[in-house]
Amino acid sequence: MSGNIEHIHCLIIGSGPAGYTAAIYAARADLKPVLYTGLTPGGQLTETTEVDNFPGYPKGIKGPELMEDLKNQAERFGTQVRFGMVTRADLTANPKRIWIDDTKEVTADAVIIATGASAKWLGLPNETRLRMNAGGVSACAVCDGFFFRGQDVAIVGGGDTAAEEATYLAKLCRKVYMLVRKDKLRASKAMQHRVFNTPNIEVLWNTETVDILGEQSVQGVLVKNNLTGEEKKLDVTGFFVAIGHKPNTDIFKGQLDMDEQGYIKVKPGSTHTNIEGVFAVGDCADKVYRQAVTAAGSGCMGALDAERWLASKEVHAEMA
Ligand code: NDP
Repeated sequence: MSGNIEHIHCLIIGSGPAGYTAAIYAARADLKPVLYTGLTPGGQLTETTEVDNFPGYPKGIKGPELMEDLKNQAERFGTQVRFGMVTRADLTANPKRIWIDDTKEVTADAVIIATGASAKWLGLPNETRLRMNAGGVSACAVCDGFFFRGQDVAIVGGGDTAAEEATYLAKLCRKVYMLVRKDKLRASKAMQHRVFNTPNIEVLWNTETVDILGEQSVQGVLVKNNLTGEEKKLDVTGFFVAIGHKPNTDIFKGQLDMDEQGYIKVKPGSTHTNIEGVFAVGDCADKVYRQAVTAAGSGCMGALDAERWLASKEVHAEMA
């Protein structure tokens, strides 16, 4: 502590797989990490049900349970996990200055940013309800496609993600309807080629989703042609939304280098940002892989990078 302002040796912002893995490594390296969870402790995985592709769980695990395990593991080595939202940051200051919930200010020697990204949704009431009840609405084909093997599904979007996920689903499902609101895809030519050459994908152009049908689970989707106004029901049991993600990086704009969509740029093969002592891990810096296991891997890299950077500056944690 200096004055009334708490000083933190290694501050981790975000509580998804990237943040907790960074915390496990940072705590074991005696960096005395403090992790602020954000408003959704556990991150995106707390909104999914079964996670079948995280190594080490041969029978699968529920998303919230996996995140609780990661949190417990981080705490076991001494990470302080605190509920709170980072609302402002001055990363160029030395030490770095961070504000929590617009009130509390802390300073930090090293900061690991693991704020993740949020899937964009259409905003339909039944979409939210069925998504929260694990009723067959998902924003991740790689995570949830498996549950729809041999069934008919629909996916919304015309970008690279939708194209990639549609072809992924086409390998598992009997039929994939791709709902595209314009008369063309935004996806790259190579991805378009794959879509058009997959016989069980049917692209419905100029098509918007009116409603998702079903009480407990998806029983169909009502779609509308936005040129003719004609509506029809698609008999599908799964509904995937792939209309983009938004990285949660707004509070760092103007300080950290980002791409045009707001993903934080890191030096290739590392988690170093353009500001010394600030590291970015997980989905806030990754628009390509976006998997729990890749986020966890980059969280580990972030802690190792932070440890080496702090050692090179000979900045040590205050004795507890
Ligand atoms: P994009 O923003 O590229 O595409 C979003 C798509 O969703 C567009 O077709 C858009 O339609 C549509 N859309 C947006 N809002 C709505 C809505 N409310 N209703 C219906 N449709 C909607 O997002 P992606 O996630 O596809 O890609 C993000 C970035 O990641 C891109 O730069 C992409 O190239 C990259 N990426 C690269 C991959 C790779 O290299 N393997 C894989 C995946 C992504 P419209 O065109 O009409 O605006």
